[in-house]
Amino acid sequence: MNDPPRVRFCDLPTPVRSLHGLSDRLWMKDDSHTASLWGGNKPRKLEFVIGDALARGKRAILTFGALGTNHGLATALYARENGLACVLCLVDQPVDDHVRAQLERIGDSGAIVYRTGTFRRTALRMPWLLARHRLPYVLPAGGSSPVGVLGFVAAARELAQQVRAGELPEPSEVWCALGTGGTAAGLLLGLRLEGLQTEIKAVHVNDQLELSEATILKLVRKAAAKLEVEAPADGVEVVHGYLGGGYGHATPAGTAALERARDAEGLKLDPVYTSKTMAALLDRLPSTGGPVLYWHTYNGV
Ligand SMILES: *Cc1c(COP(=O)(O)O)cnc(C)c1O
Repeated sequence: MNDPPRVRFCDLPTPVRSLHGLSDRLWMKDDSHTASLWGGNKPRKLEFVIGDALARGKRAILTFGALGTNHGLATALYARENGLACVLCLVDQPVDDHVRAQLERIGDSGAIVYRTGTFRRTALRMPWLLARHRLPYVLPAGGSSPVGVLGFVAAARELAQQVRAGELPEPSEVWCALGTGGTAAGLLLGLRLEGLQTEIKAVHVNDQLELSEATILKLVRKAAAKLEVEAPADGVEVVHGYLGGGYGHATPAGTAALERARDAEGLKLDPVYTSKTMAALLDRLPSTGGPVLYWHTYNGV
């Protein structure tokens, strides 16, 4: 197996704990504090993305998101920390207080920001942007390139180690939010490399991208090719029915799950990703057997 370039700024392993206040079969992998500048699931991907950019001699990373993008902000912060510039192309989304605060942080991060408005206008400006910023390292939205996926391959191996150490039982299912697919793809590949048969349940929360079992498995194959290992042919289910009005729109089921997790476990969930994931998981739990793991991807820093 290949040993891809990686810079290390995450605080690993992240802890696991039971969520027995919600169910005696439920555990959590807590990625809220993966790294000190910005936590959640993005820093795991960026260790490999920035490692790859530096190995290729790049000076800047160009990436994409909506105005309130967690991914864009995390990329800007860790790029700067590692001596790289960051160029962000941001498409519009409804502006609320959270988005305004996020835009301010992005402004403070030193990133060069283009408000391109729509995906179409971003695509049209790409040739100019690539020339203007001297062929930067281009990173897809959410950091879910095959290289970014390697962060979650490593995360799955970290979990397998915790299972072997007796910190939690081997889960029959791992539940995570499905934003751009890198988290789900990496977990599936990493768990299979460790010999675990755990199923991945990825809750559909983003209708701005074409996401299905097939697109996740394609990403798995590309990441496996980077590592020169065999890719699994199945093992992930995309769970539908929790998106509501669309990406970023809160739902009654999500809000109810957010309140339940807060009251039972003091857990802080967000309306966009983790509360919808928790809603789906809690609905399904009575009809699944065995221990279930919830992967907490939300930034708590
Ligand atoms: C970005 C994000 C996700 C989505 O992860 P993907 O790897 O893009 O599918 C999930 N949860 C939170 C809190 C996020 O910020």
